[in-house]
Amino acid sequence: MRVGDRVTVNPYIFCGECFYCLNDYTTPCTNRRVYTQGWAEYVLSHESGTYLVPEGVTLEVASQAEPLGACLHAVDLAQVRSGSVALVIGAGPWA
Ligand SMILES: [Zn+2]
Repeated sequence: MRVGDRVTVNPYIFCGECFYCLNDYTTPCTNRRVYTQGWAEYVLSHESGTYLVPEGVTLEVASQAEPLGACLHAVDLAQVRSGSVALVIGAGPWA
């Protein structure tokens, strides 16, 4: 990546040392931190959690990559398909 590239970031920072991280399952990382300045104009992010935004994708759309990715992953795990009936509950991780 270079200065000026359009990027989006994973707002979670995983420790890479706990049981979960060492077993390649970072979501429940016991030392996970979250970028709290995600809506700022500029954020310092580690390259491992930074992703180039493809041409044709607006920065506004790219800013929703993490929540959209979490939703798609949940739908995939639940095996919800077109025509399925589902109940979505919860207010997110900070409720
Ligand atoms: Zn960890």
